[in-house]
Amino acid sequence: MGTALRFDIQAQQGEARAGVLNTRRGPIETPVFMPVGTAGTVKGIRFEELESADLDAKIILGNTYHLWLRPGIEVIKAAGGLHRFIGWERALLTDSGGFQVWSLGALRKISEEGTQFRSHVDGSLRFLSPEVSMEVQAALGSDIVMAFDECAPGQASYEETERSMNLTARWAKRSKSAFERLQTEGADSGHVDAEGLSGEQALFGIVQGASHVDLRRTSLEHTVNIGFDGYAIGGLSVGEEKPVMFEVIEDIAPRMPKAAPRYLMGVGTPEDLVEAVARGVDMFDCVLPTRNGRTGQAFTSRGKLNIKNAQWVNDSRPLDESCPCSVCRRHSRAYLRHLYTSGEMLASILLTHHNLAFFLDTMRAVRQSIRSADFPKFRLEFTERLRANGE
Ligand SMILES: [Zn+2]
Repeated sequence: MGTALRFDIQAQQGEARAGVLNTRRGPIETPVFMPVGTAGTVKGIRFEELESADLDAKIILGNTYHLWLRPGIEVIKAAGGLHRFIGWERALLTDSGGFQVWSLGALRKISEEGTQFRSHVDGSLRFLSPEVSMEVQAALGSDIVMAFDECAPGQASYEETERSMNLTARWAKRSKSAFERLQTEGADSGHVDAEGLSGEQALFGIVQGASHVDLRRTSLEHTVNIGFDGYAIGGLSVGEEKPVMFEVIEDIAPRMPKAAPRYLMGVGTPEDLVEAVARGVDMFDCVLPTRNGRTGQAFTSRGKLNIKNAQWVNDSRPLDESCPCSVCRRHSRAYLRHLYTSGEMLASILLTHHNLAFFLDTMRAVRQSIRSADFPKFRLEFTERLRANGE
């Protein structure tokens, strides 16, 4: 496609790649983890903290489905796009809404044209299609736009998955046409003059096909033939077994265009991230660090830690003794447990901060290890440590 993005791979070890994704809002070192900001907020954390040296998140996600329903694109357009509306100047990626609509289950009706569903906000009947998704994402002005896709359930039959994968291919084509028209019309609210880049939005295509590797390969071929700035693997971590998920990633990621970024959508635990990097993935997003932070679960270098447990009542150690984040520098497990059991909102805020720090630090360490040709050793030690003490 165009010059909206430039991706430079700087080091590679096995299938693992370390590089720089140059967006119109600055460079992003990869592999990268992108915190999820569903409704224009990464839940439980201020933007200042996301920008701080502690976390230094270079790119976050926004959800088309949620923002379209509330506050609605007119509000965001009037504010000058999603960056201005929420007060975030770094890069933003928006999903297409396909996955959220799919998650509504029986409440939606899929046709060739698109998906009809009832809004969870006010019960109104809404219609989402490739064209509508592209219009909403142009109005949001995100830096990376995702094609509108359909996701087949992990346990879907072969025929059902094939039908869904072919629909995704037709929708991908329509997404690209609508996207290009909108760029020409200047519909992108977030347009910026970017050094050496077009300043336009970038568009990623999505590979579907559930756990059927041959369908995945066909889907990849369709997607690459249409041509996108980057390529995503969608529809994983939706109920299939872990080994099945990795089988798909291992087969598909190395077949994806080498010169373009590869994005694994909605995955996963810190261990999943490291394992997917080893199979050639460059970009990730997941709600785990924020969602689990709110329910009292911390991710640490020694596995998961449930702050509710009585064993921490007098424990003066930080959540993770090898974590340099501001929460671990200041607070004990005993205090965090007290906050959580007292229903204090600060418990969620502090656990979310630490969890994001751990995910982002892990990716920094992954990048460093690939650059210094130490990735296999890092991967082994990281995994062994996680399992040593995990719950
Ligand atoms: Zn920490």
